[in-house]
Amino acid sequence: MKRRSIVASFVAVLTLAGAILTGCSTTQPAASPQQGGTSQSQVVNVYSDRNYDTDKKLFESFTKETGIKVNLVEGKSDELIERLAREGKDTQADLLVTADVGRLFRAKDQGLLQTATSDKLFKNVPENLRDKDNQWFGLTVRARVLVYSKDRVKPEQLSTYEDLTDPKWKGKILVRSSSSVYNQSLLASFIAVNGEDKAKAWAKGIVDNLARDPKGADRDQAKAVIAGEGDIAIMNTYYLGLMLNSADPEEVKVAKQLGVFFPNQNTTGTHINVSGVGVTKAAKNKDNAIKLIEFLSSDKAQKEFAEANFEYPANPTVQPSDLLKSWGTFKPQSINLTKLGENNKKAVEIMNQVGWK
Ligand code: FE
Repeated sequence: MKRRSIVASFVAVLTLAGAILTGCSTTQPAASPQQGGTSQSQVVNVYSDRNYDTDKKLFESFTKETGIKVNLVEGKSDELIERLAREGKDTQADLLVTADVGRLFRAKDQGLLQTATSDKLFKNVPENLRDKDNQWFGLTVRARVLVYSKDRVKPEQLSTYEDLTDPKWKGKILVRSSSSVYNQSLLASFIAVNGEDKAKAWAKGIVDNLARDPKGADRDQAKAVIAGEGDIAIMNTYYLGLMLNSADPEEVKVAKQLGVFFPNQNTTGTHINVSGVGVTKAAKNKDNAIKLIEFLSSDKAQKEFAEANFEYPANPTVQPSDLLKSWGTFKPQSINLTKLGENNKKAVEIMNQVGWK
């Protein structure tokens, strides 16, 4: 690999000590970014809710290739968005990275992002995985699938998200609470695909068939299936990948007893969401920010970016990992992901109306 000699580059990770990996976000309050200096300085400041070692390694590779230093501030997405809003034009942040389109949409909606124009990005990130005004770009794709007990459920019994509301699954469905933006985005996609009335009937049907009041995160639903509390969990694919590769043997054991099913393959497709990134409205290092997104969407980075967290690459020229390939290919919903943000408020309203806790 060609190494430039200008700087001994490094990534300054300004997260608090003891950060704990909790899915896509940390529980740590965000620290202050290093001063970016003038617009000429070779730096890019990132606010991110993806607390993954892979991201940090990729930032290091970016610095090695370009000489542009990456300053990273980690935090929960809502806190980072609030912080961007509070800091206004004085913010040091050039990029916002979040693990869900709903949050990127929220940032855009609040006027915190700006359009990024780049032929490389337009080539690397398909149109349906980026904002219609190019204010955010998907970097990794996650599918929200059905995970089932291989002992008690045959894949032939499964078909669609809609089928989960059939009385035959009464007391068998496990899914986390309506405060999860993943579920909000799932329902938002149904509003886009099927209209509001059908989306509401579906949400009501899920509540009626729940095995228990929603609690825990995605991995807890998988564990509850194996504990016999229910038969089918609605969850994101990468959590199963994380469990299969976990340092905790119990998680591995649970995951091995579970099957993955991509619903709606003969109808509207499986729901997908993205982890993505947008250039902040007040970015002082816009060129460097765009260079970093270009790098993260490149073939080389996409492979690492997606594989380490068992996600699907956003860049269609990059193959998914062997584990993901072993689950088979699938047809995703064909809506533009902007819809997930546009319909978020309505989805939350519906969940409240039908009593999805
Ligand atoms: Fe997650």
